[in-house]
Amino acid sequence: MNQEFDVVIIGAGPAGTTCALALKDAGLKVALFDKELFPRDKICGDAIPGPAFKLMDKMDTSWGKSLRSYADSSSVKYSKGFSPNGKSFTVGWETFSYNSKREDFDSFLLKLVAETETSVYQNQRVDTVSYIDNGVLCTLDSGERIKAKLVIGCDGARSIVSRQLANYDIKEEAPFLAMRTYYNNVQGLEADTNEFHFFKEIMPGYFWIFPLANGWANVGFGFLRPYNSKRSLNMRKTLEEIISSHPRIAPRFINASLEDKAKGFALPISTKNRKLVGERYLLCGDAASLINPIGGHGIDTAMWSGYLAAQQAVKCFEKDDFSSDFLNEYNELIHKKYKKGFNRSYKAAKLTMTSPRLMNAIFNNGKLIKKLIDI
Ligand SMILES: Cc1cc2nc3c(=O)[nH]c(=O)nc-3n(C[C@H](O)[C@H](O)[C@H](O)COP(=O)(O)OP(=O)(O)OC[C@H]3O[C@@H](n4cnc5c(N)ncnc54)[C@H](O)[C@@H]3O)c2cc1C
Repeated sequence: MNQEFDVVIIGAGPAGTTCALALKDAGLKVALFDKELFPRDKICGDAIPGPAFKLMDKMDTSWGKSLRSYADSSSVKYSKGFSPNGKSFTVGWETFSYNSKREDFDSFLLKLVAETETSVYQNQRVDTVSYIDNGVLCTLDSGERIKAKLVIGCDGARSIVSRQLANYDIKEEAPFLAMRTYYNNVQGLEADTNEFHFFKEIMPGYFWIFPLANGWANVGFGFLRPYNSKRSLNMRKTLEEIISSHPRIAPRFINASLEDKAKGFALPISTKNRKLVGERYLLCGDAASLINPIGGHGIDTAMWSGYLAAQQAVKCFEKDDFSSDFLNEYNELIHKKYKKGFNRSYKAAKLTMTSPRLMNAIFNNGKLIKKLIDI
């Protein structure tokens, strides 16, 4: 055994870094591993939802303050939706939020962790996780072996903890496919407004344009896979076609410059009531499929689940109990806080986003739109 820790957190995305920050004063020996070297790209819409800032304020007002004043970001106050027939509806956000490239946002959080006692290991992939006496053995790609009393799986959509300790088939949990790229100088962009466009060609799904700092925009689209399974949709070609020829979109991109090639990824949106704990492990964020099926956002839920997992971890060490039964408290909390609403949201997404006519009708009813967003 090369090293031993009380808690090993796998993954330094928003879930893992928040979990590490929440364990800062717990008096535990904590390690955070990530397979990438930061700053690293993460395929995302880059819209950081309001609850993420609320949580940082709650944990440490100075963290909240520094995250809010982060320079390379674009403050967002509105979301504007466009129905298939072009009718628009704007929703104002009361909670502070902004758009920031994940490359920057995630590095910012990791820098905060690096200032604590947590041991941070970048560029080190955890290849296997397995049970040993009184712990979990994590084997790294370097061959190094790490022992943990408790493992917190914050390792994203293809989580090794989810596959190897919980034995879940992660493919079942990623029914939303999305692709994003970056453009500069998109015409008609409002700096404080995220745009969602529902076109019949990509339903059930939507095309988005989210403004970033310095005239950039995150541009992409995503759709629910099960309902498109009979159609073969070439995502890259579809994105190019929307940008080059859709009558409402193409004129806005005439003078825009492409800044990155389009990259796609599956979103593990919440569709099933999986158990998120077992003996000596907890799952957070995308590893726990905590993405809102209608909004498609998961950064806020990743951070909150990381925070709540840290609280549960502290209780495990206080009681010296790492059993599945004891950890179930976290599982129930997450189901109550998110999963129930997500199940309703998934049903609503399947119902509404499959029919352009229904979407057109919904856009005539502002109250209904707000209700769908609030589920
Ligand atoms: C196209 C797209 C658009 C999206 N848009 C938005 C949006 O605008 N707003 C929003 O809130 N959410 C959005 N999401 C969802 C959001 O990206 C995720 O919900 C969020 O990143 C989850 O955070 P996480 O910390 O759980 O996982 P991640 O951010 O995926 O972090 C996991 C980390 O674990 C590391 N890792 C993985 N495996 C290992 C291993 N074996 N060993 C060591 N390290 C490992 C990875 O390198 C990574 O750094 C979008 C997702 C996609 C795909």
